[in-house]
Amino acid sequence: MKNIAVIGTGYVGLVVAVGLADFGNRVIGADIDDAKLAMLNEGRLPFYEPGLKDYLKANIESGRLSFTQDVPSAIIKSNVVFLALGTPPEKDGSANLEYLKSSVDSIARYARSYTLVVTKSTVPVGTNRALGERIRTSGGSARIEMVSNPEFLREGRGIQDFFHPDRVVIGAESDRAREILGSIYSALRLNEVPFVWCDMETAELIKYATNAFLATKITFINQMANLADRAGADIALIAKSMGMDGRIGEKFLYPGPGFGGSCLPKDIRALVATGDKLNVDMSLVKTTIAANEEQKARVVVKLRATFGARLSGLSIAVLGLAFKSNTDDVRESPALRVVADLLEGGVLVRAHDPQAMDNFRAIFPDIGYYASAREAMRGADAVLILTEWNEYRSLDFDLMKREMRGRVLLDTRNLLNPRLVRKHGFIYHGNGQTIGSIQGKMGL
Ligand code: NAD
Repeated sequence: MKNIAVIGTGYVGLVVAVGLADFGNRVIGADIDDAKLAMLNEGRLPFYEPGLKDYLKANIESGRLSFTQDVPSAIIKSNVVFLALGTPPEKDGSANLEYLKSSVDSIARYARSYTLVVTKSTVPVGTNRALGERIRTSGGSARIEMVSNPEFLREGRGIQDFFHPDRVVIGAESDRAREILGSIYSALRLNEVPFVWCDMETAELIKYATNAFLATKITFINQMANLADRAGADIALIAKSMGMDGRIGEKFLYPGPGFGGSCLPKDIRALVATGDKLNVDMSLVKTTIAANEEQKARVVVKLRATFGARLSGLSIAVLGLAFKSNTDDVRESPALRVVADLLEGGVLVRAHDPQAMDNFRAIFPDIGYYASAREAMRGADAVLILTEWNEYRSLDFDLMKREMRGRVLLDTRNLLNPRLVRKHGFIYHGNGQTIGSIQGKMGL
């Protein structure tokens, strides 16, 4: 059993703290957010994450997991400190490392004996070495080593991803550090999860390369969907057939209103900033960033095309505010851009999301929020689906006809069967699903 501190109990830190406690370690989660800690100490979740609550309660009850605001005491009681702090973007896109710096300063000050500092946060290449140097020059007495152990979990699937990761990447540079990490993760090694052992720089770049590739893959299929829309082709079959090619793989080939969330947008901007710093042109990643902004803007452009340019005075039900399903996270959600564009066009926005309305309300306090999709649709001229929540896959079209004023349905996630929706008399636009014929568009 190891004594572990996890500094930062947000989306990543909480799943990691709970997971490491479940592996049999004694874990203290440390955070500076009073309200969050009060909820955690009562076994309540400060955010929505399926399955996490049961693990939280079970590990608190076992006595292996506790939470504190006293970061120094958590450091003093631990020989391994995981860092799961935010690395938000600066104005120029580079990652803000202030939370990490202040935490390693505390570790240098309070660690009493050999301490391994394991960085879960996503940090630009070279950061862990620089943090190690910062600790060494701070004059503390204990020997402290840095390890880069980037996290790949997805919000909404955090528990599944922590216990069944595709791989674990560990950038560690001493046998002692490798042995400690190997023992902390022994449960995963017994389950034959692949481990990638490497230097810190490689580990840091694996994380950015992965996120940049995923962002580019989404953007690629979004642009193919835009083309399929014009050409009268079916993106679902295109994506499915592409995915059958083992060199490509089927995941992340679903078109949508653009990617969002707390990771992909900020990480690819930080990768461009790193490229600038090291004088390497990341032109593909830059294009992905620009194309994603255009994709978000396209949603309202498409709506305008349907209504003949004028949106002013329309009432539109927006279904889905979270950046994806199974989370309440709205950070960089495409819905932020879409709702802003709708409001600018003079639209009355009636919003629904099963989990993310409180977070969205903090940014847009003045739009209408409704407890159900049905209420949001009442009197609406159009319905706009932005997030792939399961409950939006089975909308009751007869009920919609009774509740709505208009008959337009714009489904940016392709959740619905176009034939069925049209059979019910709706004007339906999916994403990459035949809105015009190729002959018409190509002038043939
Ligand atoms: P988050 O904002 O949800 O959590 C960060 C936590 O750190 C907050 O609870 C905050 O109160 C706390 N904190 C800030 N300063 C502190 C301090 N000085 N001492 C103690 N606690 C402090 O962030 P997150 O989404 O969990 O992301 C953390 C890191 O993991 C980021 O680098 C992110 O890029 C990376 N990451 C996130 C995800 C994801 O899906 N969210 C996935 C993989 C990697």
